[in-house]
Amino acid sequence: MNDSNSISANGIAAPDVKIIEVEVIPLAVPFKWPIQNAGIKTAMDALPSTIIKVHTDAGVYGVGETQAWKRQGSAEDQTNQVRILKEYFAPLIVGKSPFDIAAIMTDLNKTLHHSYYCQAPVSDALYDVCGRILGVPVYDLLGGKCRDTAPCSCTLILKKTNDETFENAKEHMERGFKHQSIKIGLTPDIDFQNVKMLREHFGDEIEIRVDANASMNYEQAVQTLGRLEPFNLELVEQPVPIWDVDGLAALSASVSMPIIADESVSDDHDLLDVIKKRAATGFQTKISKNGGIYYIRKLFTLASAAGLSIYPGNHPTTSIGTAAILHLCAAWPEPIKPGNVATGINSSLADDIVVKSVRVENAAAYIPDGPGFGIELDDDKVEKYTIEL
Ligand SMILES: [Mg+2]
Repeated sequence: MNDSNSISANGIAAPDVKIIEVEVIPLAVPFKWPIQNAGIKTAMDALPSTIIKVHTDAGVYGVGETQAWKRQGSAEDQTNQVRILKEYFAPLIVGKSPFDIAAIMTDLNKTLHHSYYCQAPVSDALYDVCGRILGVPVYDLLGGKCRDTAPCSCTLILKKTNDETFENAKEHMERGFKHQSIKIGLTPDIDFQNVKMLREHFGDEIEIRVDANASMNYEQAVQTLGRLEPFNLELVEQPVPIWDVDGLAALSASVSMPIIADESVSDDHDLLDVIKKRAATGFQTKISKNGGIYYIRKLFTLASAAGLSIYPGNHPTTSIGTAAILHLCAAWPEPIKPGNVATGINSSLADDIVVKSVRVENAAAYIPDGPGFGIELDDDKVEKYTIEL
């Protein structure tokens, strides 16, 4: 561990602090089992996570995380993310005050429009380092603590057989996860059998969500959702492609279950489109997809003003990305829905990169306390999982 980073500095005047280095560290953090993402031909054995350390002349650094979660809405692989962070973003950041978060983030977006996956770790490392410099948790920079925990949902891994998928659901249920999301978009019949299995086994104990990851066309969505109507689903997540907000709106108007958006919402303009078209009853955020705390806070505000439900989430993420969304949730005074905030450390990741992982118990993720995110990197683990690109 870097000792200087665990010391919260006292009395340092914010304007006197300067960023002296942006360190970019690509990692491959192992999964417990290979993860097959929609549209990607090969399964992933490890999470392509990249962390950055924003070092300051106060002797304190902050950490942020992103992932190369190649999917609809993200065209960047890890090599590109590292290159963008090193070659484009670092020169714009070094020499600035870490407290100039809004100006820095605006600069980054003007330099590389819509590069939210790469901007996310910058946003979050800046909040982390500012909290550490001031000796306060990030939630105090965002308005103060409104809750001690964030409710968690889980995502089921589709196994080869229905029985194996059931075992995965049962194991989560025993750990307190009542809100469970299962992937759909395979065939209407397989989707029907999977959801039927969950409802028959768990009755009213389970809140069933289905998530198509934008994989169905409108006709397949109509067919599939029609068959799933009897199962009293909690919600349907992103049934149709990222560009088909009109399709989301048409489905929202024609089926009985709530439809929420995920892939269709990257930024505030996307969310405004969903709101204007009443295309969804809620939406899912992700630290990397949506550009970190700086941008997601705006999305929360817009959604709340429009009466949309907020589902805070994440791709599989180490405790760094988990802590970032948790601090934002902590400072959010209005309701949030159970979300995939801790899906990486909950279930899919075989290891973490911090000294003490975010605590998740009975489907509640505890907001870490302490300066910044209140999370310390484990330097040995970081070294172990660092990769050459
Ligand atoms: Mg989703």
